Amino acid sequence: MSDSKYKQNNTGLNSIAVHTGTIRDAFGGVNTPIQSSTAIEYFTGNGNIPYPRNFNIPNHDAVSKKIAALEGGESALVVSTGMAAIAIGILAITKPGDHILMQNNIYGGTRAFVDILREKHNINVTLISSMTPENLAQYVTKESVLLYMETPTNPLMEIIDIVPITQWAKDHGIITMIDNTFASPINQRPLELGCDIIMHSATKYMAGHSDLMAGALIGNTAYIEKCRKLSAIYGMSLNAVDLSLLERSIKTIGIRVQQQNANALEIAQWLSNHPRISKVHYPGLPSHPGHEIAKRQMSGFGGMMSFELAGNDIEYRDAFLQKLELISIATSLGGVESTITIPTQTSHYIVSIEERNALGIHDMLLRFSVGIEDAHDIINDLEKALQ
Ligand SMILES: *Cc1c(COP(=O)(O)O)cnc(C)c1O
Repeated sequence: MSDSKYKQNNTGLNSIAVHTGTIRDAFGGVNTPIQSSTAIEYFTGNGNIPYPRNFNIPNHDAVSKKIAALEGGESALVVSTGMAAIAIGILAITKPGDHILMQNNIYGGTRAFVDILREKHNINVTLISSMTPENLAQYVTKESVLLYMETPTNPLMEIIDIVPITQWAKDHGIITMIDNTFASPINQRPLELGCDIIMHSATKYMAGHSDLMAGALIGNTAYIEKCRKLSAIYGMSLNAVDLSLLERSIKTIGIRVQQQNANALEIAQWLSNHPRISKVHYPGLPSHPGHEIAKRQMSGFGGMMSFELAGNDIEYRDAFLQKLELISIATSLGGVESTITIPTQTSHYIVSIEERNALGIHDMLLRFSVGIEDAHDIINDLEKALQ
């Protein structure tokens, strides 16, 4: 087998998405072959014997190179789920007694992991509602080792200004890690904004077809090697078939996300003029409080938004959802098909009602993952159901 001759000198994200990492077999096919063997011949006993759980199989090499290149990082590790990436990504650089500065408004599963960090690992986590250097300075301690953030946030699409935060963290010798799932590397490249580590739920935009789960970590090679060793012990590897499916899917991430960006902007503008919608949260709208920052740090505003139905009538909400035909009421996000969720029943179900209220997440709020269908068909579906 040999690496694709096309891997060199790719600078455009679409060229990287299509070509980088591809491994050719003797037959010359343009796709990395699936190597699903778990028994693999080896000739040296140097401790890194080929075994899928050790992340040293060709399908892992191929897709991890592609993901690292898309984010402009040195190395990447692809694990079984986004949550596995979050858990390993944090555990690889913390020890009991350490302190983490973490954004308060984060993915629900990450928030649940904070309880485990506190209770089982004796790691102190401060959840911070306003991520600004001034505010962080109030909470930093000499045990602070990691700053964790997510932007745009789920489900309210708040935008965190990344550059001042990473600069502040560098001045304090604190490592920064960002969940870049919502933006995808097509719309936001956090390493260029000073972040040290990126994590992705590759289940979402990277996989893009709502048919596999994966997670990714991107960072310098020494860090990724630490994550690899730990993930091998915890058994968080992804199988060759799904690694291959992920590699295939990422080839179209550029054109998928561009279509989602365009659709979402058009739909957000339409929704914000609709009398039955009281509020639209989309960073592409000039009315969004994070719009100016998003324009600076993102190259597209993404396919995720949320909106609030006017009033307080849960029966109207459910009738609206039931009338939708093209748009599915379904968890997850980032797929080619448009989906809507009710955050109080899904991502934030495990978050207490008090915390939810503090975050502004209530029952009339709907999170919308815009697909790649034609915008006018999506709008027609919404229009009909809102009647
Ligand atoms: C889905 C999601 C995760 C968790 O990823 P899984 O692949 O479901 O484990 C983490 N962060 C964000 C922002 C997500 O949307």
